[in-house]
Amino acid sequence: MGMPTVAIVGRPNVGKSTIFNRIVGERISIVEDEPGVTRDRIYGTGEWLTTYFHVIDTGGIDIGDAPFLEEVRQQAEIAIEEADVIIFVNSREGVTSADEEVAKILFRSKKPVVLAVNKVDNPEMRSQIYDFYSLGFGEPFPISGSHGLGLGDLLDEVIKHFPADHGDPYDEDVIKFSLIGRPNVGKSSLVNALLGEERVIVSPIAGTTRDAVDTPYIVDGQEYVIIDTAGMRKRGKVYESTEKYSVLRALKAIERSDVVLVVLDGEEGIREQDKRIAGYAHEAGRAIIIVVNKWDAVEKDEKTMRNFEEKIRDQFQFLDYAPIVFLSAKTKKRIGTLLPAIQMASENHARRVQSSVLNEVILDAAAMNPAPADKGKRLKVYYATQVSVKPPTFVVFVNEPELMHFSYERFLRNTIRQAFEFEGTPLKIIARKRK
Ligand code: GDP
Ligand code: GDP
Repeated sequence: MGMPTVAIVGRPNVGKSTIFNRIVGERISIVEDEPGVTRDRIYGTGEWLTTYFHVIDTGGIDIGDAPFLEEVRQQAEIAIEEADVIIFVNSREGVTSADEEVAKILFRSKKPVVLAVNKVDNPEMRSQIYDFYSLGFGEPFPISGSHGLGLGDLLDEVIKHFPADHGDPYDEDVIKFSLIGRPNVGKSSLVNALLGEERVIVSPIAGTTRDAVDTPYIVDGQEYVIIDTAGMRKRGKVYESTEKYSVLRALKAIERSDVVLVVLDGEEGIREQDKRIAGYAHEAGRAIIIVVNKWDAVEKDEKTMRNFEEKIRDQFQFLDYAPIVFLSAKTKKRIGTLLPAIQMASENHARRVQSSVLNEVILDAAAMNPAPADKGKRLKVYYATQVSVKPPTFVVFVNEPELMHFSYERFLRNTIRQAFEFEGTPLKIIARKRK
């Protein structure tokens, strides 16, 4: 079902981004040192008492040139649409008309709202929170984002309102995939093209209303589920047009997928936002296929495809493992290559390799190509083992994990790729000290 989502809402300057940073902190990710992945500091993952959740700082959602009140209002609407729980942030300095405006919108939504009064930097200030009862969301939680006070009590309350997790409703052998990309690259057209022929719609699973947004179907005996088809089709609402909203939508779909199709517009070329969206899928450790759509509309000679491919490899260096498929949703040319690619990527994403073979490969490579010495010390690789799948994750036992530099990690990763079938999936490598 995916992690629950918490949205932080409130007018500017109440301290939303400060609180966001407190909750999200600095989390370690698999793309830590990789170039090309732009961090977007309005989405993050929070953890409280071993419960993980998405956090959105709605203050970072750019609505364009909307006037102040309109902007605050639209951010609140997005929060309502996307969040399971809303943290409504106010400032101890007092309730303003903008706060009341937001309160009205949140109240109508019937979503669980936890009221925070920020900038309560010391206990004497606690007496000032009583005014906030008037907002109608019950007990206000006094916090100080900048001092990190009161956040525990606030999060205790937040996680109380999380929906029960029903787990993944699909069988293990069902391949779940999603299509992500900027608006108008042709995601919904692609879904329609895919579903056009030979499809058997499987009835939605009873009791899982949230999954009615997914489209299950079977081709040649293999069951697939297209994740969040409804979200892709949703149109016309204000936030559809905001760039960051489509990123949010993509994030949620990514999380529930095995394979992610990063859809590009062959006619328009590659944009910065394409990279950001792809970066999220990579970071989430999903199998990835790059789909260049609208290839029918591109004027081509024998070099065009190759040139485009080179451009993709150059701009998406972190996706060196992802196959590229050129096709047209409109004419359906090469649509047939998509499902086999998805199936291949999904198999590789779940692939386990034998420890004995893995060790032979890794130790041979390390012997042939030892790590360079760093300040007189040299990394030694002792043995390796695959600890998990989706994505395949390898622990490499070494003398000093700090000596494992990015370039050597990449060398080991490439070594594993060359020895086994891992096309389409990222590989994760963790260096650990041998005990
Ligand atoms: P946002 O616009 O709601 O995201 O607000 P920011 O997080 O950018 O904070 C606005 C201002 O309030 C900044 O100058 C922060 O340093 C300050 N601020 C945030 N949290 C606190 C707090 O707990 N106490 C005090 N005194 N100032 C804070
Ligand atoms: P989405 O916003 O990513 O779901 O994009 P849509 O599927 O709504 O497509 C956006 C526009 O691109 C529509 O006008 C489609 O007709 C057009 N389009 C989609 N796929 C293709 C294609 O393969 N070739 C051409 N020429 N146009 C396409």
